[in-house]
Amino acid sequence: MKEILLKAGTVIIGDGSVENDVSILIQGGKIAKISSETASVSGSEVLDFSDRVILPGIIDTHVHVCHDGTNPDPAEIKKHSDEYLAIRGAKFAEQLLNAGVTTAGDAAGRSEVPFAVRSAIKEGYVNGPRLLVCGRMITISAGRGAYGGSNEANGPDDVRRATREELGRGADFIKLAATGAISSESTESFTTQFNQDELQAATEEAHKLGKKTHAHAYGEPGGVNTVLAGVDVIVHGHPMTKKTIELAKKHGTQFMPTLTTYYESLQHHDEGQLPEYMVRKEKELFPLIEGGFRNAVKAGLEIVLGTDSGMPYTPFGPSSMEEMELMVRLGGMSEMDAIVAGTKDAAKALSIDKYVGTIEVGKSADLLVLESGLDPLKDLARLQTPESVEMVILEGKPVIKR
Ligand SMILES: [Zn+2]
Repeated sequence: MKEILLKAGTVIIGDGSVENDVSILIQGGKIAKISSETASVSGSEVLDFSDRVILPGIIDTHVHVCHDGTNPDPAEIKKHSDEYLAIRGAKFAEQLLNAGVTTAGDAAGRSEVPFAVRSAIKEGYVNGPRLLVCGRMITISAGRGAYGGSNEANGPDDVRRATREELGRGADFIKLAATGAISSESTESFTTQFNQDELQAATEEAHKLGKKTHAHAYGEPGGVNTVLAGVDVIVHGHPMTKKTIELAKKHGTQFMPTLTTYYESLQHHDEGQLPEYMVRKEKELFPLIEGGFRNAVKAGLEIVLGTDSGMPYTPFGPSSMEEMELMVRLGGMSEMDAIVAGTKDAAKALSIDKYVGTIEVGKSADLLVLESGLDPLKDLARLQTPESVEMVILEGKPVIKR
């Protein structure tokens, strides 16, 4: 692989800091050196972006490649074969990369589909981000379900069995349903499902292999169970109450608010396309989101970027960028903190922070070169236009060039 010397005007590191007028030397797909020397290494290709902003590739920890984010019905997946879902999912992966998402976490899918998409990307048949998958969602019987993508388990021992099963299939992280869901017709969002001891059993098994657990949870009882069980990431989490926030802060639980999917869905409530049960549950939930999210930000919880792309009105790619803008607009986060949520803290949520997520020596060279004149710390919303990302570099290779 050719060495690349990338001259950058501004480098947003991903940990909250910035470096100006530096050169990044990329060797073997990794960042080998960051320095203020501009002298090129002989034999290396020089890319001069000395008037541009460079930031780490964005990490979206919550997508569903089995689902089509432009379809208003989450049950649409039932009409299709696994083969069809895999081919379509490959296209969605391409859309993520095209927008500047260099790592994504598939947060539950049917059969072998997410694994197949992961392999096809890894082996170079498909252009896509580094994909990490959880396999099937682990749920109780008669639980929230996941349109064929669930592994049902009841009681701590059985949850251990299901967790080991998903890890044995090659899951990179574990997804648990701690409560009911908006997108399942048969459950109510705030009803608790797994008990604390069941969530804890899954987390113990995942941690043995260095993998993280993410739990879908709405409402205080489900949120509290999730945090006390030692789960690493509370997913959705709304409304984040004082008690949940305090406990999450104490336990170091990360919080993934998935704002884009609610916000976009809300814009389409009056069009009559969404299932009635979703509109009803979202109307109940949406007024509770902002206050709790703001309190969580104020309390200093680590926020993680995850969009639920694939769910209704949450298409792949631009949604990941929109999530950062909503963190600022709805949660009062700074632009810089929103970027950290989509880089360093998202890498931690997927347990890959040792080699991805920030622009540091030794880490994978996953970089975005922005169009001339664009400073995301001033205009984060513009990132939602894929053309604003002029080059996407993944593992040292420019994979998208405009
Ligand atoms: Zn989801």
